[in-house]
Amino acid sequence: MSKPSEKSKSANGFEHMASAHDESSPDRFHSVVDLDRIRAAVREILAAVGENPDREGLLETPDRVARMYAEMLSGLHVDPRHYLEKTFTQTYDEMVLVRDIDFASMCEHHLLPFTGKVHVAYIPLGQVVGLSKIPRVVETLARRPQLQERLTQQIAELLMTTLQAKGVAVVIEGSHSCMTIRGVRKPGSSMVTSAMLGTFRDNHATRTEFLSLIRKSVD
Ligand SMILES: [Zn+2]
Repeated sequence: MSKPSEKSKSANGFEHMASAHDESSPDRFHSVVDLDRIRAAVREILAAVGENPDREGLLETPDRVARMYAEMLSGLHVDPRHYLEKTFTQTYDEMVLVRDIDFASMCEHHLLPFTGKVHVAYIPLGQVVGLSKIPRVVETLARRPQLQERLTQQIAELLMTTLQAKGVAVVIEGSHSCMTIRGVRKPGSSMVTSAMLGTFRDNHATRTEFLSLIRKSVD
């Protein structure tokens, strides 16, 4: 892993940027996102659809939208491995499951939100991680222009390689506003994706146990 003070892109595309790790600063993303450029673009969109960007109700809108995008896409500037650096040696070798992690992501095809729940399980091989870190990893990877399929795979692969786990399972249930409010307009529909690695792929009983443990919320 490269030094956190340098910005570099690793083979799997995760950027290292130390400044974004300073969670004490609420404006930590605004230094790396060009807010002025978003503001100008939003004014253009408003004008293009026939609105008057200078009417009173819209005056603050470009700024609000710029800050919203900076927040919704803030995961671009955080390396999720940062949250998995601290592990604990533990002989526990049964399944660790974190269920019902809420997420909000941005569909990269429409820049519309998709939201839902993530279920993550892993079987440790001597190293466990603080449970609060897994939702952090989910949030970091979700807050990027995303596809649900890729988000599912990225969470699974990151945990598998960083924790050197015996196996990782990830299931995501997502509701996509690009499907529910426009296009085919299927309100209430959800998309389920899964990634099974290691033991979860090879061992039928382990996979079945995981699926039965999360079933309550999937059904
Ligand atoms: Zn979409």
